[in-house]
Amino acid sequence: MQPGELAYIATSDLAGICRGRAVPLADLPRWSRSGCSWVPASLAITPFGEIPEPNAFGPLGDLRLVPDAASAARVALGDGTTPYTLLLGDLLQTTGAPWLLCPRGLLRQAITDLAATTGLTVRAAFEHEFSIRNPSGDTPPALSIRALQQAEPFGSHLLQVLAAADLEPETFHSEFGAGQWEVTVAPADPLTAADRAITLREVVRDLGTHHDKAVTFSPITDPGQVGNGVHIHLSLIRPDGSSAMPDPTEPGTLGPDAAAFTAGILRHSTALTAITAASSISAQRFAPHKWAATHAFLGHRNREASLRLCPPCIINDEPVTELNIEYRAADATANPWLALWALIRAGLAGIDDRLAPPPVLAQSIDNLSPDLRTSLGITPLPASLAEQLAALQADRTVTGWFPPE
Ligand code: GLU
Ligand code: MG
Repeated sequence: MQPGELAYIATSDLAGICRGRAVPLADLPRWSRSGCSWVPASLAITPFGEIPEPNAFGPLGDLRLVPDAASAARVALGDGTTPYTLLLGDLLQTTGAPWLLCPRGLLRQAITDLAATTGLTVRAAFEHEFSIRNPSGDTPPALSIRALQQAEPFGSHLLQVLAAADLEPETFHSEFGAGQWEVTVAPADPLTAADRAITLREVVRDLGTHHDKAVTFSPITDPGQVGNGVHIHLSLIRPDGSSAMPDPTEPGTLGPDAAAFTAGILRHSTALTAITAASSISAQRFAPHKWAATHAFLGHRNREASLRLCPPCIINDEPVTELNIEYRAADATANPWLALWALIRAGLAGIDDRLAPPPVLAQSIDNLSPDLRTSLGITPLPASLAEQLAALQADRTVTGWFPPE
């Protein structure tokens, strides 16, 4: 520990903004037991810094924000700056009982309920895309080594900082859009995966400041251009750690629980976008021919599907990745705990209702007639936030997952 090191004890609000308090790292044991004080209405502060009126909390109430040591990430940028430790926490009532509106607590409860009903858990990984504004206007080709070099030392520094913070980074690459980047981390249990997503965004923004680069996760930085997505990979996992995704009798296809889970996500997909891609410009990203999700359906390897069936990959007899589903209609304006909570709740509803396996589309939907699309249950993703919110309010199953407040 360096002199003066701080611990940030934080939560993530409804817009995925990380808010918290700092304490001296040396005092952390004391704050870990009882947490620090927190105001309920902090959850309602908008991304523009206002407290909306009316909101569910008003000026009333007291909470405790209790850090979870399992989420601790020590962020050491080097170059003379003092490291800090980011700890994500649970919002509890002053009695120590859970606060029903805590976004992290909601995800915890969904994980518990999935396990209680099915004996299964989820393994998840978030892929993040972001843009770095390039004032020189020189745009090297997408995916090129030249693009990677132009961003240096940002990329190598990012992977180094993420690894030292135990976020298990996997890849960093120049994406398809101009000045666009993607960073991936290893799959983990759902709480860890969502915690990592929150921490990763803070680290990327911090490094942007450190390297004097204008970094943004905004879903659209330029209307008509490629957007920045967040893709969430999901597998159902048995207690022995094996995957419950494949049908053992038909490799490459989904087993019964995985198929019903997937069908549940598809059944609620329009309402879900109000939670997973929740800003006023998010829907602009759902545009065709940019590798972004445009329609709700299960697509075999199709990047315009809201859910992509990712095949198992085996190279030189070595399993590299296993069969999983990738939810592509999320962006970084969503709270990662809530995004994963909503996906698990929707999947569990599909299992509870024993939904039939959804059709798997192996071709582009461009040439399918409107009638055929309708008969296959392929629906366009919403075109505006108003449509997203109307769908959310109309979906009684999804609204039923929220605490009444
Ligand atoms: N940028 C695309 C999106 O908005 C995704 C590109 C990709 O397949 O990685 O979701
Ligand atoms: Mg990408």
